[in-house]
Amino acid sequence: MRKTLIAGNWKMNLTDSEAGNLAADIKDKLDDKYFQKIDVLLCSSFVSLIAVKQSIENSKLRLGAQDIFYENDGPYTGEISGSMLLSAGCEYVIVGHSERRKYFYETNVIVNKKIKKSLEFNLLPILCVGETIVEREDEIFEGVIEEQIIDSLEGVSPENIKKIIIAYEPVWAIGTGVNATPAQSGKIHKFIRTVVAKIYDSDTANNLLIIYGGSLNGKNAHEMLSEPGIDGALIGGASLDAEQFKGIVKTAYKIRTDQ
Ligand code: PEP
Repeated sequence: MRKTLIAGNWKMNLTDSEAGNLAADIKDKLDDKYFQKIDVLLCSSFVSLIAVKQSIENSKLRLGAQDIFYENDGPYTGEISGSMLLSAGCEYVIVGHSERRKYFYETNVIVNKKIKKSLEFNLLPILCVGETIVEREDEIFEGVIEEQIIDSLEGVSPENIKKIIIAYEPVWAIGTGVNATPAQSGKIHKFIRTVVAKIYDSDTANNLLIIYGGSLNGKNAHEMLSEPGIDGALIGGASLDAEQFKGIVKTAYKIRTDQ
């Protein structure tokens, strides 16, 4: 059975001490039993990684980054390397988030290079895909998502695809308060599995973790996470609130326990 992943994407929020405090608060609120069925991940800003790492020491909380650069080192002002993320204690890295595609012009080619670099460093990439509202209204969203997946996974070996998590994040749902319905999301998760099965095989597709992101919160978590094929969530706004984040982890745990 695929293990549920609940991941917080703190984006460009919190100073290092605020991030350390939030991580400590989340750690205190999460009972050990949750981790038997749920992986819980915190993705802070780069400067907060070490503070968060210290706060979550001796717990099963995982640490992730929000981006990685595709070169090992050198003259790339402002960028961060795989070895830097590893030395800060990261195990995961978000790649191709729609905010990076929108504000920093990241293309599928760049995302592909970042995916490969993450894998080279044994960092588990969370590959974000999803359509804009125009692409949904024009009914070209499946094609857009298929292209994002095919291009981003180009050259990724059958062995390495097992380490990748795909996050379906409809751009129109991110930070808007309007989540995709469970049915809309469930349908796309199924579609993503068919795309992955075409590139690799159906076993690989069935084992792939596909999570949902886009205005998921304490109120809609139950219906979203109960949808077959939704293996967890990437959460922005609601992950900045320890109580709400804990509630989502607890909901996910209950759903998995009742299955
Ligand atoms: C995200 O940025 O990955 C995200 C899902 O944000 P929010 O939950 O705030 O919509």
